[in-house]
Amino acid sequence: MADRDGVIWSDGKIIPWREATTHVLTHTLHYGLGVFEGLRAYRTPRGPAIFRLQDHTDRLFNSAHIFMMRMPYDKDTLMQAQCDMVKQNKLDSCYIRPIAFYGSEAMGISATTLSVHMAIAAWPWGAYLGSEGLEKGIRVKTSSFSRHHVNVNMCRAKSVTTYANSILAHQEVAHDGYDEALLLDVDGYVAEGAGENIFIIKHGKLYTPDMTSCLEGITRASIIELAGEIGVPVIEKRITRDEVYCADEAFFTGTAAEVTPIRELDNRRIGNGERGPITARLQAMFFDCVSGKAEKHASWLTYV
Ligand code: PMP
Repeated sequence: MADRDGVIWSDGKIIPWREATTHVLTHTLHYGLGVFEGLRAYRTPRGPAIFRLQDHTDRLFNSAHIFMMRMPYDKDTLMQAQCDMVKQNKLDSCYIRPIAFYGSEAMGISATTLSVHMAIAAWPWGAYLGSEGLEKGIRVKTSSFSRHHVNVNMCRAKSVTTYANSILAHQEVAHDGYDEALLLDVDGYVAEGAGENIFIIKHGKLYTPDMTSCLEGITRASIIELAGEIGVPVIEKRITRDEVYCADEAFFTGTAAEVTPIRELDNRRIGNGERGPITARLQAMFFDCVSGKAEKHASWLTYV
C-alpha cells in the first residue's frame, strides 16, 4: 500500500503518497489507540460521490469522544479533505480512510498530553468479499473468539484496537477456507462479522442484533431504512446462531462488504444456499442509492 503514486492528506497538508510516513515510536503503533473511518465514493452520472460522508464523519468524532481523543480538525475541514482526496487522486470510485492517531512524544499508556495526528487516504478497492460473493453469497464460520465485552472495549467506537479481535477471528476461519468470520458476544449471541453487521430474514421479516456488541454500521442503518420503504418489518433483538442456521436468508452489511449474502454458516446451508429474494431487492436498492439512481436518497451522497 505504501509504494504507489498519488497524494495523501496528512495533518492539513497534501503530500506525495510515498512520503506519508510516521515515526516508529508513534504511540498508536505500540498501544493501539486510534480512531478511524471507512467510506466509499461511487461513480455516478454526475461524477464521484461519497456515501453518507456526514454520518461517517459524525461517527469518527463520536469514536474520538468515547476515547477522549482531541480531534485537531473540525468536521467541515475533514469532509472537504476527503472530497479533495477523491478528486486529487482522480478516482471515480474508491475507498476512503481517515484516521486519527497519537504522536510519538512519549511512551507509557498515558495519552492525555500527546499530539493527535490525522491522515486521509483514498484508493480503488473492489468488492471486499469478492464480486462472486456479492452475487452468490459467501461461506461464513462462527469464530471461537468472542466480540468484546461491553466493558472491555467500546463497540460504538470504530477504533484501531477493535480490529485485533477481528483479525483473530478472520484468520482463524480463513485458515479453514471460509470467507468471513461471525463473532458472538460474550453471552453467546450473534454480534457481527469481523468487519460487517449481520441481518437474517425469516418469514418475510428482517432481524439484526441490537447495538450492544456491534458497531453502529452506517450501511446497517441504510438497509433498515430501505427495508422500511418496501414494507419489510425490521426487528433488532438478540439472535442465536441456530436462528441464523434456520433463516430463510442472511447477509452482511458494511462499507467495504456493501451488502453481501451469506449462503452458509458453520457448514449449514442458509435457505436455498444462494442470494435470497429480499436480500437481492435490498442489495439492488442499496446500489441504486450509492450510484445516484435513487432520488429519494440523494441527500446520502456528497459529490466531490
Ligand atoms: N462492524 C464492524 C466491526 C466493522 O468494521 C464495520 C465496517 N466499518 C461494520 C460493522 C459496518 O459498518 P459500516 O456499514 O458503517 O461500514
